[in-house]
Amino acid sequence: MTSATPTSSTPATAALSFSQLPLSPAMLANLQQLGYLSMTAIQAASLPAALLGKDIIAQAKTGSGKTAAFALTLLANLNPRRFAVQTLVLCPTRELADQVTTEIRRLARAEDNIKVVTLCGGVPLRGQLATLEHGAHIVVGTPGRLMDHLERGSLQLDALNTLVLDEADRMLDMGFFDDIVKVARQCPKTRQTLLFSATYPEGIAKLSAQFMRDPVTVTVEAQHAGGQIEQRWYQVSENERLDAVSRLLLHFRPASTLAFCNTKAQCRDLVAVLQAQGFSALALFGELEQRERDQVLVRFANKSCSVLVATDVAARGLDIASLAAVINVDVTPDAEVHIHRIGRTGRAGESGLALNLASMNEMGSVGKIEQLQGRESAWHKLDELTPTGKGPLVPPMATLHIQGGRKEKIRPGDVLGALTADLGYTREQVGKINVNEWSTYVAVDRALAQQMASRLNAGRIKGKSVKVRVLED
Ligand code: ADP
Ligand code: MG
Repeated sequence: MTSATPTSSTPATAALSFSQLPLSPAMLANLQQLGYLSMTAIQAASLPAALLGKDIIAQAKTGSGKTAAFALTLLANLNPRRFAVQTLVLCPTRELADQVTTEIRRLARAEDNIKVVTLCGGVPLRGQLATLEHGAHIVVGTPGRLMDHLERGSLQLDALNTLVLDEADRMLDMGFFDDIVKVARQCPKTRQTLLFSATYPEGIAKLSAQFMRDPVTVTVEAQHAGGQIEQRWYQVSENERLDAVSRLLLHFRPASTLAFCNTKAQCRDLVAVLQAQGFSALALFGELEQRERDQVLVRFANKSCSVLVATDVAARGLDIASLAAVINVDVTPDAEVHIHRIGRTGRAGESGLALNLASMNEMGSVGKIEQLQGRESAWHKLDELTPTGKGPLVPPMATLHIQGGRKEKIRPGDVLGALTADLGYTREQVGKINVNEWSTYVAVDRALAQQMASRLNAGRIKGKSVKVRVLED
């Protein structure tokens, strides 16, 4: 077993340089352009063997760069001139499949015309069938929907050379064991299989025993590099807990916070409390409709929502850029999960803040966390928390929803043009623009949101009139 310990302070030594891998000059230039100046620990540990064609089981925490590790491998195996599906990537959810597709496309820019298709549930089959008829090199999808296509014969795998299981632990949690095995059985025997996971539950060994060949296992320790995340602990009674969250928010005033709860019920309760107190807070948990989930994530990522409240399962794997703070509303009984949670803040050398609420009943779990981290908890008093007198915590942006997206051939530039060139707003008053298949989301200066929505409604985008509204909290 190869083992490497990530330290974000690791200098870009020759040992971590992409240039010593057998990658094309065009790919190396593209990595440089993307700002991938050196390999992450899991990339350094897995890519040499993966590029030799070995089966790999790779385990590393969320945010460690696992996607590029398998994407570079599958692209190295790909023949762009052969117009057939050569790679299949299995992901647990549509969001993760979308993220993986985006990352593969970015990395595939070095080559012309590599076609990547996403196939997930919750989307009409008809469109997917049409897309598949046009052909694809790489298919990314969820196990259930991929099984549908295989059973219908709309997806052929005879040219496949690489099978990837991303977030394998999460797929097992979701009950996909049998579907994964079925899909793997339909792949040609001579192929490379890459399995990526944040944790290593028992099921992974069982899964790999079914269809992987002599896999190389690489692990990067879950422990966070340490110093740059400040952790503070507060003892609370059960009836103080939810209110303590708003006190933390008003005291520290983080620009964006991910608040973890152990149950969906707790998520719902906390969001209700926060919204009632005027916070812009949204919840992410299992049973939201896909469209609602998309909206929640877009609004959090584009700074028009300050607090995202989530369960571990819902938040796992999501690539949300570094957060100002993580609040552990409940202590997790699994110390490894605690490390994953707080690793969402203080990414990429920035300083992070992890605030933890613990009741007397949770002290056993706190002890396990101390043991795993090898340090004692720093306890603070709730009384120390004083609202800074700056009024409610208001996110800088609000989100406009435009009916119409890629299907209507709307591009981010069209929206930006309508707002700046046509309506005279400044570039600074417009934030992130996300164009989805059927809708477009635009982050705009919160104070101007209503006005912008009415003016867009009265005007045109790309010569067409559009329906626009402000998404309310
Ligand atoms: P994981 O799948 O392990 O959770 P991701 O693949 O989503 O992690 O990567 C997390 C972030 O790190 C992404 O935004 C990705 O673009 C970035 N990233 C990946 N590899 C590198 C690298 N070598 N250098 C800089 N950034 C990287
Ligand atoms: Mg990932």
